Amino acid sequence: MRARILLLSLGVALLCILVFSLTSAQVYYKFSVEESKRYLRVYMNGFDVGYADQAGALAFSEKLEGARVTIMDGQGNVIADSHAEEIAENHADRSEVADALSSGEGYAVRSSETLGEVMFYYCRSVADGELLVRIAISGDSVWRIFLNSLPAIALFFAMDLVLCIVLSFVATHFILNPVKELTAAAGTEKRVTSKYRELLPIAEILNGRNRDIEEQMLQLTAEKELVEQARVSKDEFIANVTHEMNTPLTSIHGYAELLDAGGLTESQRATAYKTILAQSERLANLIACIINYSEIDSDDLPAYAVDFSALAREVIGALKPEADKREVRLIGNIPDGVTVQSRHERVSEVLGNLVRNAIRYNRAGGTVTVTLDPHMLVVEDTGIGIAEENRSKIFDRFFTVDKSHSGKNGGFGLGLAVVKKICKKSGWEISVQSTLGEGSKFTVTF
Ligand code: ADP
Repeated sequence: MRARILLLSLGVALLCILVFSLTSAQVYYKFSVEESKRYLRVYMNGFDVGYADQAGALAFSEKLEGARVTIMDGQGNVIADSHAEEIAENHADRSEVADALSSGEGYAVRSSETLGEVMFYYCRSVADGELLVRIAISGDSVWRIFLNSLPAIALFFAMDLVLCIVLSFVATHFILNPVKELTAAAGTEKRVTSKYRELLPIAEILNGRNRDIEEQMLQLTAEKELVEQARVSKDEFIANVTHEMNTPLTSIHGYAELLDAGGLTESQRATAYKTILAQSERLANLIACIINYSEIDSDDLPAYAVDFSALAREVIGALKPEADKREVRLIGNIPDGVTVQSRHERVSEVLGNLVRNAIRYNRAGGTVTVTLDPHMLVVEDTGIGIAEENRSKIFDRFFTVDKSHSGKNGGFGLGLAVVKKICKKSGWEISVQSTLGEGSKFTVTF
């Protein structure tokens, strides 16, 4: 950048010096032309007719410090010339002589035979037109004036070079420093600005970049958090699954060992077989539940209008025997024609899990009321209720309030997690209201 500024300023300065020198030479030349005209007039005043021969011309020339003196008769024929051997030439055709013949005096400037010189001629008609006297002096041409000024130009240029070097250093310092400060500030500050108007667009660009980076950082942090959450959730899930599987497996393994060792009584063997069968069923059930839970995530089958009214009656009918067994009254307030956009098996799962829980976590003589309308489904029971501290956790995977009942009274703590997942996928809301010892009310809003 510094070299560019230096070259540019040098180029501009050189051009200016050259243009200035040429113009000055031209002006000086014009001035010297005017001056020579004045001098020659003054010189001519020193002429008298006594100089009107060759010796006089030489004497007059000497008096004028070597100026060329030409004396002609009234027709322009040369009588005497201080600088020429051969005379008797006719100069009537020369412009200054012609002018003197017509108007009494004439002036002309012509290039000299010597390179870079011009001749100034002044001719006057004297002695009542009988004589024509011409004085000529040499002067510098524009080109010679320019060449003469070359040393001065070189000096100017040398001075200019020094000046330009200093200028380029100062300019780059003044231009680059604010830019450096701005970019350095942009590295540490969120928003930067500059007191220089010219740098404000750069400041805006830097601020924009900073904003983008900040947004991307936030996005990355959020994504990182999600990944971390997913990792923790996956670890928890695996730990829970392992834990849930361990219990039946340990039991099966223990009884199998006992059977293998032999020496058991008939009734002990019967208990062992029964336990192995029950635990393997529980294990199969658990695996089916886990597969079902995982499948909901990848379930992208299209939704369709499901007749919820018919389905609710079907589910209530199917769970009636279980309710009867537990001496729980199952009441359905199901109007006709309620449809929802979902899939039959998913809606069945939501309702089935909620009603099954309402029956299981109930007490003998209690009731379960299923109410459906086009906007919501409410499953209300008069059962054991849920303590406040557990209400937010019941939708978590593998959460069961009473661990000792896990897999017996209830399932594995996956029922409500499945319900919540299906609701989320369908865009439904699920909420719970409960009073410990009095009952619970689950509401799904479509
Ligand atoms: P589970 O298979 O154990 O029933 P859920 O996910 O369906 O698993 O329920 C989680 C826990 O929430 C249950 O273990 C139970 O303690 C509690 N719960 C669910 N529904 C009810 C209800 N209607 N009344 C009282 N407690 C309930």
